[in-house]
Amino acid sequence: MPELTTGVRYVKGIGEQRARSLEKLGVRTLGDLIAYFPRAYDDRRSYKKIRDLEEGECACVEAMAAASPTLSRIRQGLELVKLRAVDETGALDVTFFNQAYMKDNLRAGESYTFFGKAEVTGRRRAMANPIVEREGARLMTGRIMPIYALTAGISQTTLVKSMEQGLAACGKLLPDPLPDAVRQAHQLCRIGYAYEQIHFPSSEETLAIARRRLVFEELFLLAIGLKRLRGRRDELTCPPWLETGLEDFIEGLPFPLTGAQRRAIDDVRADLTSGRPMNRLIQGDVGSGKTVVAAAALLCAVRNGRQAALMAPTEILAEQHHRGLAPLLEKLGVRSVLLTGAVKAKARRAALEALAGGEAQVAIGTHALLTDDVVYRSLGLVVTDEQHRFGVAQRAALAAKGDRPHLLVMSATPIPRTLALMIYGDLDVSVMDELPPGRQIIDTFAVPGSYHQRIYTFIDKQVAAGRQAYIVCSMVEENDQIPDDRKAASEYAGILQERVFPHLRVACVHGRMKPREKDKVMAAFSAGEIHVLVSTTVVEVGVDVPNATVMVVEDADRFGLSQLHQLRGRVGRGRHKSYCILVSDNRSDEARARLKVMTGTNDGFQIAEEDLKLRGPGDFFGHRQHGLPALKVADLSCDMALLREAQEAAGRLLERDPELSAYPETAARVEAMFASAAGAMN
Ligand code: ADP
Ligand code: MG
Repeated sequence: MPELTTGVRYVKGIGEQRARSLEKLGVRTLGDLIAYFPRAYDDRRSYKKIRDLEEGECACVEAMAAASPTLSRIRQGLELVKLRAVDETGALDVTFFNQAYMKDNLRAGESYTFFGKAEVTGRRRAMANPIVEREGARLMTGRIMPIYALTAGISQTTLVKSMEQGLAACGKLLPDPLPDAVRQAHQLCRIGYAYEQIHFPSSEETLAIARRRLVFEELFLLAIGLKRLRGRRDELTCPPWLETGLEDFIEGLPFPLTGAQRRAIDDVRADLTSGRPMNRLIQGDVGSGKTVVAAAALLCAVRNGRQAALMAPTEILAEQHHRGLAPLLEKLGVRSVLLTGAVKAKARRAALEALAGGEAQVAIGTHALLTDDVVYRSLGLVVTDEQHRFGVAQRAALAAKGDRPHLLVMSATPIPRTLALMIYGDLDVSVMDELPPGRQIIDTFAVPGSYHQRIYTFIDKQVAAGRQAYIVCSMVEENDQIPDDRKAASEYAGILQERVFPHLRVACVHGRMKPREKDKVMAAFSAGEIHVLVSTTVVEVGVDVPNATVMVVEDADRFGLSQLHQLRGRVGRGRHKSYCILVSDNRSDEARARLKVMTGTNDGFQIAEEDLKLRGPGDFFGHRQHGLPALKVADLSCDMALLREAQEAAGRLLERDPELSAYPETAARVEAMFASAAGAMN
C-alpha cells in the first residue's frame, strides 16, 4: 500500500530520470507531490463549434482530423506540422511549431479535442499550438486545469497525470493539522477535499473553498510558530535597566518631540526596564524622526553603564548618523566612535581600543561593526537602522557580541500593522505614524516621456534658485544578463552633462562603484558642489540633503510604490518647496493606478496598503529576508481578514494547550514549517 512517504517512483510514468527532475522541485515522496500546488489555473471548460469561434477566444473544439498531418521544414530550426480538422460546422486549420512528433500523434479520421486561442480571418478558423487529446479524455481539456511551475524534464501533462495518481493513492491519508474544533468553528473544509480541489477544481466556488481552508491552515501554523517563538523569548530574562532621565537630552534638541517620537521612546524605556531583552521594531515613515528615538535608546544604555552600537547599511548613512549624533552625545559626555570600511587603520585601531577598554560608549558604523576584531567591554544595546537592508543573521551576529543585548530595529518601509505583526512576528512593534510639524507636502506629478524637455527646464530653474536635483533611472536589462545599473546611470549622466546641462555640474552614482567613490560623490552632492545627481536606487535609503528639491524618477512604473515613496522622501527635507516627477510611458491600467496612488498621497502607510492591494505581498515576502517560512498559498493582501481569524484561533489553541500535547499533528507541521527557516529567527 502506498503511503505519504512512498517515493514518487511509485507513480506510473515516473522513472529514475523524472524522479530526479521532480527532486529539483522539492518533490521526493507522494506526500511532497500532492503538496505541490498549482501556481495558476487555466479554465478550459468552454466548448465551441468551429463556426462559432471568435477571434482571440480560448476554447475547446471537438473535431476530427480530416487528413493526415503534414510536416514541412520551413528553414533551419523551424518545423511545421499542419492539420485540417473538421466538425459539422466547418474546418479548423491547426498548426504546430517545432513539435514534429505531432505528425505521428494525430491520425486521419480520429476525433480530438483541441484547446487553444482561436484566430479568425474572414471565414478561416485557425489555432496555433493548441493542446490536443483524444476526444473524451478530459485530462488536459474540458476542465479547470492546474498550471504547475515546471523544471526541465517535467511537463504539465506529466505532472497532471502524476498528481491524479498521487491523489488517488494517498489523498485520503493526509493527516489534518487543523484541530476539528478549529475547522468547524471557522467553517473550513476537510484536508482531503481541499487537496483534491486545489489541484482539480470542479468549479470556481469549490476552488475558493479549498483555497480558503489551505490559506487558513498556513496562516494558523505560522501564527502558532511565531507565538511560540515569542513565548520562548518572553522566558528570557536580563537584569532590568534603571529608568534614567532623558530630560537634558530632550531639552537639548533643537525641536520638541512629536507625539509619535515620545510614544516610541516610552515603549523603548519600558522594554529596557522590564527585565527581559528588548526586541523592538520602530516603524516610521521617511522623515518621521527615528534617529532621535535611536539616540534616546543609546543614551539609556550609556546611563546604565553599558555600551551601545548603531549599525547602518551604508557608509554614507553611518557617517551621516555619526555626524549628527556624535556632537549631541558629546554634549552629554558620551564618547562615540565611527567604524566603517573607510576608516583608516590607525583611527580604527584607536576606536577598537576605546571600545574594548570602555572609554567609548557608543559605536556607530556599518558591517564593519561585525568583524571579529571588534570587541566590546559591555555591549548592552544594538540598534540597526533601515532594517530591511540587513539580514536577520547579521543582526544576530552583532547581538552575539554582547550578553543578550537589547535589540532595536528601525525600518522606514511602512507596512500595514497586521502584516508587520506577522512578518516581524517575534518583534514588538512601535509605529511612528506622525511627521514633525511643518513638513510640507511634496508635489508629485506623473508625466510621460515627452515631458523631458520641460523637466530639464524646471531643474534648470531650481538650480538657478540655488537648489539641487536627483534623477533616478532604473537598470538596463540586456536580454537575460545581469541588469547593468552602471551603464544606465553613467550613460544618462554623460548625455545630460554634455547636451542638456553643459553649464551645470552633473555626477553619477551607481551600485557598482566602490563605496569609497560613491561616498565621495555623495559628499560632494551634500556639500552643494554637484547640481544634478543621476543615480540608481542607491539614494533610496536615508541620505539627507535638505537642499535637494527635485526628485525625477525615470521609468517610474518599474519601481514598487514603497520604493518610489522612499525615493520621494529624499526631497522635502529642508525648508524649500519640493517636487517629485515620475516619468513613465507605460499606459497600462495597472501602471497608471499605481502612479495615481503616488500623486494622490504622501502617506507612506497608505501607500504601503495600496501597494499591497495592487501587487500582493511579493515585495514583503518575496525576498524572504525576514527569515520567515515561505508561504505557499496565502496571499496576505487579500487574506488580511483570514489572517486575523487564524491568529486568534492560534492564540486560543495555545492558551488551552501551550505545548500542543493534544495536537501532535499540528506541532509536527509547525516544526516542519519553521525548520526551513531555522536559525534565521533570533
Ligand atoms: P527618519 O525617520 O527618516 O530616519 P530622521 O531621523 O532622519 O528621519 O529625521 C528627519 C529630519 O527631521 C531630520 O532633519 C531631523 O533633524 C528632523 N526631525 C526629527 N524629529 C523632529 C521633530 N520632532 N521636529 C522637527 N524636526 C525633527
Ligand atoms: Mg533614518
